[in-house]
Amino acid sequence: SKPMGNQEKAEVKGYFETTGFERWNRIYSTSGDVNRVQRNIRIGHQKTVDNVLAWLQEDGDLASRSFCDAGCGVGSLSLPLAQLGAASIAASDISEAMVKEATRRATEAGLEVARVQFSASDLESLGGSYNTVVCLDVFIHYPQPQAEAMVKHLAALAQRRLIVSFAPYTPLLALLKSIGSLFPGPSKATRAYTLKESGIIAAAAQAGFKPLRRSLNQAPFYFSRLIEFERI
Ligand code: SAM
Repeated sequence: SKPMGNQEKAEVKGYFETTGFERWNRIYSTSGDVNRVQRNIRIGHQKTVDNVLAWLQEDGDLASRSFCDAGCGVGSLSLPLAQLGAASIAASDISEAMVKEATRRATEAGLEVARVQFSASDLESLGGSYNTVVCLDVFIHYPQPQAEAMVKHLAALAQRRLIVSFAPYTPLLALLKSIGSLFPGPSKATRAYTLKESGIIAAAAQAGFKPLRRSLNQAPFYFSRLIEFERI
C-alpha cells in the first residue's frame, strides 16, 4: 500500500487547527450549542467511546497496561481512561489545537499529568511500544490504501491489542453519498471516506493481528464500525 499523501495530510491538519477544531471541539463537549446533525454525531461518538471503555474494563488489569491513543482529539477516550486507573497513556494528535484543548481538559478534570502524556504528532511518526493501541474515528479522513497503511503502522506499536473504529463502506451509504454529490450542499472542509472492513481486517492480519470483538455504533448521521484485534 502507498504511504499517506503529504498533500492530503497537510489539508487534514490545516482543517483540524482551525474550523475543524472549532466544530469538533463543540461536538465533543457535553454542553454548548450544536445543530441536530452535530448532536447526533455527539451521541453516536459517545457510544463508541463508552463501548471501548467497557471492552478495556472487561479485558481488565488497566493499572498495569500502557496505552497509545492515536489521533486523540480533545481526549474523549484518554481522559476517562486515565480516570479508570490506566497506568500510562500516550495521547497524540496531528492538530496542536486539539492537543492544547485535551491538555486543558485534563488539567480542569484534575488529572495527574504523569498519567496522560499529550503530544502533537501525526500517527505515522509515532514510535514506541504499548500494550494497547487505540485509534478512533481518524481513518474517516483517509482513503482505503492510506487507512490500511495506518492500521499496519499502529499494529507494529501494539504488543497485544489494537482497537480501531471507522465509517464502514456499505452499498446503501455509497448510494446516498453519490446522490449527495449530485446535489452538493455547502462545501465540506474535508472529504469523508468510508472503508471496506475486509481491507482493514486484511491489513491487520498482515501485521499479525486477528479480530477479537466487533460492534457497530450508530446514531442518525453517525456510523462507526469498532474492531478490537489481538496479536496472533
Ligand atoms: N479519536 C478522537 C475521538 O474519537 O474523540 C478524535 C476523533 S476526530 C473525528 C479525528 C481526529 O484525528 C482529529 O483530532 C484530527 O486532528 C486527528 N487526525 C487526523 N489525521 C491524523 C493523523 N494523520 N495523525 C494523527 N491525528 C490525525
